[in-house]
Amino acid sequence: MAAINETHDPALRSWVETANDPATDFPIQNLPFGVFSRAGVEPRVGVAIGDQILDVSACLEANLLESDAAFAAAEACRSTTLNGLMAADRLSVSGLRLELSRLLRDEESGGPGARVGSSLLVPMTEARMHVPADIGDYTDFYASIDHATNIGKMFRPDNPLLPNYRHVPIGYHGRASSIVASGATVRRPLGQTKPADAESPVFGPSKLLDYEAEVGFYIAGGNRRGEPIPIARAEEHIFGFCLVNDWSARDIQAWEYQPLGPFLAKNFATTVSPWVVTSEALAPFRAPARARGADEPAPLPYLSSAGNEEEGGLALTLDVLLLTERMRAEGAEPYRLSRGSLTDMYWTPAQMVAHHASNGCNLRPGDLLASGTVSGSSEDSRGCLMELTSRGAKPIALPNGEERRFLHDGDEVVLRGCCRRTGFVSIGFGDCHGVVEPAVEKSY
Ligand code: MN
Repeated sequence: MAAINETHDPALRSWVETANDPATDFPIQNLPFGVFSRAGVEPRVGVAIGDQILDVSACLEANLLESDAAFAAAEACRSTTLNGLMAADRLSVSGLRLELSRLLRDEESGGPGARVGSSLLVPMTEARMHVPADIGDYTDFYASIDHATNIGKMFRPDNPLLPNYRHVPIGYHGRASSIVASGATVRRPLGQTKPADAESPVFGPSKLLDYEAEVGFYIAGGNRRGEPIPIARAEEHIFGFCLVNDWSARDIQAWEYQPLGPFLAKNFATTVSPWVVTSEALAPFRAPARARGADEPAPLPYLSSAGNEEEGGLALTLDVLLLTERMRAEGAEPYRLSRGSLTDMYWTPAQMVAHHASNGCNLRPGDLLASGTVSGSSEDSRGCLMELTSRGAKPIALPNGEERRFLHDGDEVVLRGCCRRTGFVSIGFGDCHGVVEPAVEKSY
């Protein structure tokens, strides 16, 4: 587990004034990595600070980095993806974070002040953000017991939670090719469904399009095939975190999911927030893993460690907001549908990593693992419409009089994440949003 150090000091302020705004997602204590580009220029690695992006390679070229560690990590940033940085050793990445923090501090915080040069900065408004890594493999878990129970009730009222759930972190292999960065539109998928009152299935646009609010994490330095990752080392294999929307077509899912699990219902699009908040930045926000009740089994030894129990959780609040086409036309603000917390999850990120590699499966730097829908026990913490509306039976009333059971064309889903703890500066994840486009016409 990364330690708390001078980069987390709440007294630090930056010469980038917008980074000192209490409402920013990107204060100097955050410093997430991402990949950005400007018109006609190759994508580059940057660090978010307030409403600006610090160009990491430009810092290297301007000879602003001193330690060998920071230099090595910055060399790994001379790329159009973060894979090299994710493969670099942790001390180098930490050394780079420390030097970038010092570089961005204002004079009162012991930094050089603005004179190091605004030429190193790019305004976020002038940049396009990319999927930050070349994601070789993507795995989606199912780590919320409340989500699993709520969904299970709809499919199997008498047997909602399957007997394996409390023993094994359930997941499925997702599709990396359709992962898109925040802002990309998502076309309503076509698919095969079987309406309850029909004799045979039909093919056409999904009628029950949903989102799933999740938290993702990228793998750092992988493991060799055949060599599991012990739970006590699993945190070292997590580079950092992002927000994930696992768009899901519930009608396609209901017809195709047995016996092998999700397939075309989920692989048409997955949206990620483009900034990767490092595990080190999140050190102050670690929390105990969810406690097991007296009637629940203890995790098997390969999924159990004292460190994981004490601080394997993460106090990350995840909001889902909806902006319909009409709300947008009326100039309305996005409406909050739910607020969940990653601390409610039954399995921690370290348990997911250890389990994934426990059979010898090799994880690689840049692989993306996601938590599964983040839902808690309260009704307003449910992270998808399927749960919030009880499969459409209880529509949500929006402030302008509209109703939603599932997503309509033109709807925009916005995820926002934030970590807060008394005595520390809050850090955010930036937006993860996407608008639903109508299905392709007449292709079926
Ligand atoms: Mn999911």
